[in-house]
Amino acid sequence: MDVTPELALKVGMVIGDIYGDTLIGRDPRLTGSMLDAALNAGVLSSGSDAIEAGLVSTPTLARGAGNYACGVMITASHNPAPYNGIKLWNPDGMAFDEDQQREIEDALDRSSFPVPSWDRIGAESSNPDLIAAHVEAILKDVGASKVRVVVDCACGATCTITPLLLRKMGCDVIAINAQPDGHFPGREPEPTEENLAALRATVRACRADLGIAHDGDGDRMVAVDREGTFVGGDLLLALFVRQEVRTGLVVPVDASMVLEDLLPKAKIWRTRVGDVYVAAEIKRRNADFGGEPSGTWIFPRATLCPDGVYAAARLVSMVAERPLDELVGEIPRYPVIRGAVAYSTEGRAKVESRLDASLRGLSADLSTVDGWRLQFEDGWALVRFSGTEPKIRVLAESRNEARAKEIYSTVLSSTRGAAA
Ligand code: MG
Repeated sequence: MDVTPELALKVGMVIGDIYGDTLIGRDPRLTGSMLDAALNAGVLSSGSDAIEAGLVSTPTLARGAGNYACGVMITASHNPAPYNGIKLWNPDGMAFDEDQQREIEDALDRSSFPVPSWDRIGAESSNPDLIAAHVEAILKDVGASKVRVVVDCACGATCTITPLLLRKMGCDVIAINAQPDGHFPGREPEPTEENLAALRATVRACRADLGIAHDGDGDRMVAVDREGTFVGGDLLLALFVRQEVRTGLVVPVDASMVLEDLLPKAKIWRTRVGDVYVAAEIKRRNADFGGEPSGTWIFPRATLCPDGVYAAARLVSMVAERPLDELVGEIPRYPVIRGAVAYSTEGRAKVESRLDASLRGLSADLSTVDGWRLQFEDGWALVRFSGTEPKIRVLAESRNEARAKEIYSTVLSSTRGAAA
């Protein structure tokens, strides 16, 4: 669905009606203030108050939602500049779950939206204190660190907070892509290794202790060590897990088996891919921590929102004690083999049922929480339909290369058979 001002207006009407007073924030995308104004008008016309947070990171907005009936963030997260989206937040810092999203979507199909009389429309106000409150909350939690750190904000929403926060922590901060700009002129908003060449070079050139990179709205965070080597995905997940988890961890189905080896005594729950599923499971299980290799980290003792700003502060504190490359060096790395099988889209339902039957025939524990996750004694595989192209993705991991290849080829041949 394209996010138009009409849609934003209706979303505002619906959430103002169902939930009440609404906090609204946005990242610097060019369509942000237009959608913000439309959504604001919708909330007011429902009779609820609209509170403007302005340009803020997603975790700043989600934490701020605690004082209102709900929060709305206008952002397309890590996606390219032309995109935009609307993400809704509960007062406890958790994103709207599937049931809540469905309720909003159903209500959008209404043919008319009631507007109260002139003296019953909502009041508009702004809350300029959310960034300071977010910074204060993190400073109370993490304390001082005197490292030299390069921060790459992607010209996104974290320009407003991460360099400021790290300076207040006592760090020597070099900020790049730190002017908000909805064209994202410095790099693509997704903090992948390929998109972070400037950060990696700057860390080396400035002899910094580490580099930090965010996506467009700051719910993601990845890092670079002092040599300029990318540290993200399962490695960064493992570093946080090692520090944070005592009894329970939540990760999506695609996270590495290294977590089981690092935490032989803890319970590990695996969910569908997506930070809202991880957050919901953390809440349900009362887990210590949850995260996704894509760079979202959830510290439930701080907030149920993936807070890339808080995660940056936590990593900086770790690196103040020991260099990042040394910390990473302690995490085992297991070989992962990835591939894909093409199929014809007309036959998708048949392919799916053949694939299900053939994967069930393999001697492995099967979970279908998201695609097919096959747990073998000494490794695992994941088979999932791509969300963007007519391909079935296959991934296998084991502690050694030969066994990973063996698992991969077994699962790949079942997948090829079903797709043919
Ligand atoms: Mg994001």
